[in-house]
Amino acid sequence: MLFHPAIHDTSATVDSFWESERPGLERVDAAPLARDETTDVAIIGGGYCGLAAARVLAMRGIAARVLEAGEIGWGASGRNGGFCSIGASFLGPLEQRGIFGEQETLAFYRILADSVRLVSAIAGEEGIDLQAQGPGVWTFAHRPSRLKELEAQASIGQQLGIASRIVTPAAFAQEAFACTEQAGGLFEPLGFGLHPLAYCLGLARAAQRRGARLHAHSRVTAWQREAGVHRLRTQGGVLTARRVIVATNGWLPEDLVPELAGRVLPIMSNITTTVPLSDALLAAQQMKTQAPAANTRAHLAYLRLLPGRQLLFGGRGDTTGRPAGLGAMQRLLEKRRSALFPALTGVETSHSWRGLIAATRRLTPALGTLPSDPSIAYAFGCHGNGVAFMTWAGDALGRMLSGERLALPAQLSGLPDRFPIPALRLWYLRLMLLRALVEDRMD
Ligand SMILES: Cc1cc2nc3c(=O)[nH]c(=O)nc-3n(C[C@H](O)[C@H](O)[C@H](O)COP(=O)(O)OP(=O)(O)OC[C@H]3O[C@@H](n4cnc5c(N)ncnc54)[C@H](O)[C@@H]3O)c2cc1C
Repeated sequence: MLFHPAIHDTSATVDSFWESERPGLERVDAAPLARDETTDVAIIGGGYCGLAAARVLAMRGIAARVLEAGEIGWGASGRNGGFCSIGASFLGPLEQRGIFGEQETLAFYRILADSVRLVSAIAGEEGIDLQAQGPGVWTFAHRPSRLKELEAQASIGQQLGIASRIVTPAAFAQEAFACTEQAGGLFEPLGFGLHPLAYCLGLARAAQRRGARLHAHSRVTAWQREAGVHRLRTQGGVLTARRVIVATNGWLPEDLVPELAGRVLPIMSNITTTVPLSDALLAAQQMKTQAPAANTRAHLAYLRLLPGRQLLFGGRGDTTGRPAGLGAMQRLLEKRRSALFPALTGVETSHSWRGLIAATRRLTPALGTLPSDPSIAYAFGCHGNGVAFMTWAGDALGRMLSGERLALPAQLSGLPDRFPIPALRLWYLRLMLLRALVEDRMD
């Protein structure tokens, strides 16, 4: 465990805006594993990835059970910003082209676009009310120099048939909102905002309807591998399976999977929401768009005007996970919110929470089966944009385990290298954040 143990406390749900609306959301009936059971595929982690995998496996007649340490959706999937958009890597298209080449970059972005479409398709097929807002997603350049990256992203979108477009600062203010730091932006019509917990619970119920079994409050505490089977121990019983999917992203239990240990850097992201904004405040900041928006700072800010007129505002989080860090990050986010939107200075914050995303050393996610043991599949290393991408990754793993061959681009293939001296990972993160701070100032 790199972060403070409080971050891993699955006994309670996080005090997020989405949880505050939970009374309006039907709970998923997912009793803990209460005795020894057998299944074909055991899935560790009840977020988008694990649930999407369970759903597709069940649809193909393969017995699948999900073991989740907390409530279903306890991890990032139940508490994120709800941007359903193209992304999933810290590397932009220009950097990806330089490292992986033109074809692989295009192939990765095709998957990212398909991921967004997959969320809509699943919601349509399963009757999930995503509480979608948009359509479209904005990225605004905090400096004119950052438009180059956005232009590259627009061009990739256009090559994939998406009508992505660059807008001038005046057009951005007219279509989206007025803020103190924007030099124009990118509008991608493929993408939208959703209620992340509603989507997660809907996905869970869909997996159950298709025949998958879900067990909340069933943390895997030990994993024995013998004679072609896996035995996953939980407090209530042992689940024996022929195959296992590790779908824990930033919450990877490294002690259980030595092959994956040291390959994931968990990163904190923090979010605040305001109380509902008055007409006067919305008018003062010319807030018109309900599409999610993010800026191009290395210390990124992401924001959305929610259906109840609350402003969700998030960014990179603290690097310890100590309880006191939550208040400190809230104050920092409030400061950054007021700096971008001066009219909102002093507006009350209703909720403030945080959670873990993940990075790999190559800065792109990874999914596949272990070379040393193909009966173990994994997906991890998704920075942001996991609403769409981790849904796709789970679905892809489910299809893979049911016999489909998937051609993955280089960005996603193979196990990413271990971090040197893995115990120092939080120090690497601190250095990365420091570098980002300098980068943002120098630009
Ligand atoms: C604050 C925040 C804001 C974000 N905003 C966005 C956004 O706006 N848009 C977007 O696309 N993405 C966003 N993300 C990222 C996105 O939420 C994640 O990439 C995605 O939810 C990952 O899904 P997952 O299923 O892979 O993992 P998670 O949802 O994190 O689930 C992993 C689960 O594994 C469980 N687990 C771990 N160990 C064990 C064990 N031993 N036994 C049983 N269970 C275990 C955990 O309890 C956890 O619930 C955000 C993330 C955070 C934290």
